[in-house]
Amino acid sequence: MLSGEEAVERVQGLKTKYERIGYLEKRFDEIEKALFTATGYVDTINILAELDSRRNAVETELAQIRQTRYEELWSILKVPAPLNVRWLSDVRDSADRALVEEGVRLFASLTNHPSLEGRSVRIVKSPPIGERSDYLYGHSLIRLGATADALTVAHELGHWLEDIDKSVLQKSLVFLRRRTVREPLERLRDLMENQSYGEAEMAWKDKFLSPYVGKDYRGRASEVVSMGVQYLCEFPEVFAQGDPEHFAFVYDVLRGR
Ligand SMILES: [Zn+2]
Repeated sequence: MLSGEEAVERVQGLKTKYERIGYLEKRFDEIEKALFTATGYVDTINILAELDSRRNAVETELAQIRQTRYEELWSILKVPAPLNVRWLSDVRDSADRALVEEGVRLFASLTNHPSLEGRSVRIVKSPPIGERSDYLYGHSLIRLGATADALTVAHELGHWLEDIDKSVLQKSLVFLRRRTVREPLERLRDLMENQSYGEAEMAWKDKFLSPYVGKDYRGRASEVVSMGVQYLCEFPEVFAQGDPEHFAFVYDVLRGR
């Protein structure tokens, strides 16, 4: 099995390995532009037809390479046997239900942490708590806000892991402390330039992809695992490039290491 560091290297390497995607995208743009400007020519019809068939060929090749790249990426990210997450929910609306299922599926494909085996989690949409979602430590309860999507569900399940296994929380806190020594705590609303965060919400900025990763819960929780899970689902390649240390950390933690 790959270590977190090896996974980072593999994911970072995809960019070079699939360099051809960049070339084809550029080529595709050129053909698009040519198609657009070709209308003034005498043999317009022929030129357009020729360009159109070339564009189709490029489009097909691009789609194939993107698919291969995506499969290779997920073969690195996913665990050999996904976790069987036991979840209960009061969510009845079919669209909401679909996003919960998708979020659970994403999370389960990323982890086989033994501490979650046989544990269950509740995911509710009520009572209405506004825009933001949250996880209630000590209650195995996820409350989804109005804007929740599958990534939100996967994120909150990261908190669930931290809550169920306190050694995971300890590791997160050690990681956070190590990364932010000698850094001041600052207001999250200033760091995020978003006034919807409360006066008392503080974070260490560090070089995290978002200052939110460094949010301070006075040792009772952290955003290290949950944001890591979210980034693995959302933009794993950007994550591996932008914060390889955080990537490797969460990759290993999700595997019980
Ligand atoms: Zn969170």
